[in-house]
Amino acid sequence: MKIELNKNLKKKPDFNDLGFGRYFTDHMYMVNYAENKGWFDERIVPYQSFTMDPATLVFHYSQTIFEGLKAYKDKENNIRLFRPSANFARLNDSANRCCIPKIDEKAALNGLTELLKIEKDWIPNLPGTSLYIRPTIIATDAVLGVRASSTYLFYIILSPVGAYYKNGFAPGKILIEDFYTRASSGGTGEYKMGANYAISLKASEKAKAQNFDQVLWLDGKEKKYIEEVGAMNIFFIIDNEVITPKLHGSILPGITRDSVIKLLKDFGYKVTERQISVDELYEAIKNKKLNESFGTGTAAVISPVGWFKYKDTEFAINGGKIGEVSKKLYNTLTGIQYGTAADKFNWSVIVK
Ligand SMILES: *Cc1c(COP(=O)(O)O)cnc(C)c1O
Repeated sequence: MKIELNKNLKKKPDFNDLGFGRYFTDHMYMVNYAENKGWFDERIVPYQSFTMDPATLVFHYSQTIFEGLKAYKDKENNIRLFRPSANFARLNDSANRCCIPKIDEKAALNGLTELLKIEKDWIPNLPGTSLYIRPTIIATDAVLGVRASSTYLFYIILSPVGAYYKNGFAPGKILIEDFYTRASSGGTGEYKMGANYAISLKASEKAKAQNFDQVLWLDGKEKKYIEEVGAMNIFFIIDNEVITPKLHGSILPGITRDSVIKLLKDFGYKVTERQISVDELYEAIKNKKLNESFGTGTAAVISPVGWFKYKDTEFAINGGKIGEVSKKLYNTLTGIQYGTAADKFNWSVIVK
């Protein structure tokens, strides 16, 4: 791999005030694809803008996919990743769905490793902070015909991010969307494709206008069954049974979701992956059987739900307070990610 170091290093931002995705490091990883060459010219170069023809396919037909994972700095100053192979495997699943050629997962992880070693000083070490990693693939043919591109660019950029919970671990307000839908059977809901997020914006704005933090999506056919939250999978604890919607094609298979299911089973909980309707959820709320609900995703790790609203009815969950299980999961997962808790499943990978 070619490495071109940046001679004009940026001034680092205040690690106490990072927010999310506002700052980018000095270097990026890139590799090109052409039909007759495969993936070629793998390189690490100074972080830079792209110049592209206005007809480039990605701008018109959204042939683009991405991933999201984080690098953490532990007490010994090691760089740690959390199940990174799962992200590159999922990137290839997304690629397959929209006719992007498969990447070499090992080479990509190796490229990321080299990039992280160069950018080590950009990994913040304050509690809850991390370096967010965004692998992205875009279609780069300049042509207006609707077809799969014959050339692509795969790149990885890095952004130091602040603690998701700046004022402490806090419950959120979730609006159950009863009109717009995000995905349907046979569609693209289970892939991290750019197009999925464009179509989610309208509902997010509607929720924000009502002072809610996130949207909970229902199934695209009957608008009856619960799917997931904006960029998180959702869990409910009803009568001591942990329930999460099963993966049936329109829900993103979260790596945090999978980790939480494995941890909960390990803690001794009964975990069921099945369909759950809004009616069942509201029945459980009415009968005071819904003990907890939380979202799972790389950004927030665990996001406890304090309130749900569906049509005109709003309910507090667990009195709007964080539940025991949410707290335990958050502490365990972040402990594994930062290398302070036992890692029975070998999820935390030290970058060497
Ligand atoms: C990324 C994402 C998730 C969470 O996946 P993780 O691998 O846990 O970060 C859930 N839902 C959607 C729609 C997502 O884009």
